[in-house]
Amino acid sequence: MTNTIHNLTRTDDIVIVGGGLAGLFCALKLAPRPVTLISAAPLGQGASSAWAQGGIAAAVAEGDTPEAHATDTIAVGGGLVDEVVALGIAREAAPRIHDLLSYGVPFDRDLEGRLAVGREAAHSARRIVHVRGDGAGAAIIAALSEAVGRTPSIRLVEGFVAEALLVEDGTVAGLQLREAGNFQANPFLLASRAVVLATGGIGHLYAVTTNPMEASGSASPSPRVPVP
Ligand SMILES: Cc1cc2nc3c(=O)[nH]c(=O)nc-3n(C[C@H](O)[C@H](O)[C@H](O)COP(=O)(O)OP(=O)(O)OC[C@H]3O[C@@H](n4cnc5c(N)ncnc54)[C@H](O)[C@@H]3O)c2cc1C
Repeated sequence: MTNTIHNLTRTDDIVIVGGGLAGLFCALKLAPRPVTLISAAPLGQGASSAWAQGGIAAAVAEGDTPEAHATDTIAVGGGLVDEVVALGIAREAAPRIHDLLSYGVPFDRDLEGRLAVGREAAHSARRIVHVRGDGAGAAIIAALSEAVGRTPSIRLVEGFVAEALLVEDGTVAGLQLREAGNFQANPFLLASRAVVLATGGIGHLYAVTTNPMEASGSASPSPRVPVP
């Protein structure tokens, strides 16, 4: 349920900014710990996650390994890849796919009922999982939005933009929010013990991008304002 500003004048435990895959997943993983989830657009809109069509790479097939996945990633990265990070992410990929399955994401299956995996781009093995071919992003966001809706510990606040982090004694103490698209609206402050920024990309800093409008970098940690 979406809450009104009136209900926000308390100190929240954890506030997550962003209603894409990262924000929704974080909120679900933290359950039953209470969290407030802020999204500039209604869930399912204004997030790159819902637009992703190509699928997700993960070593879920028999014989494939996270080490092989990381090796392919490093090889194609032209010397730019942090190898420790690549291996860490490759090791997390399969368990996280299983998390998504448990939240109801209907990944495509083969005739034996195993996850169907495609071979794409620089991968040396079949390791891309899809949903109905090119519908992965939309299906993931639909399933996670539903899961969020039935999780009582998650308070959803749609249609508000996080403008600035509030800082007290050198520590993040909350957020300044404003109604999305209404620059005349008064900003309001939301005190919080922890803030997770899951605001996606910054494609709209550039003239040409495939990202949604909300991917503008407007929730970057600066400007920071002091708590009044
Ligand atoms: C067209 C397209 C196709 C893609 N295809 C693939 C693919 O096939 N496979 C793949 O793995 N990846 C793909 N990607 C990349 C993938 O979609 C992203 O890496 C991923 O979805 C990012 O998730 P996220 O939750 O971090 O960000 P997002 O899904 O973009 O979510 C960010 C959220 O933050 C909100 N927000 C932003 N700023 C504020 C603010 N100031 N206040 C409040 N809320 C705010 C937005 O409204 C949104 O809800 C694709 C991306 C695009 C654009």
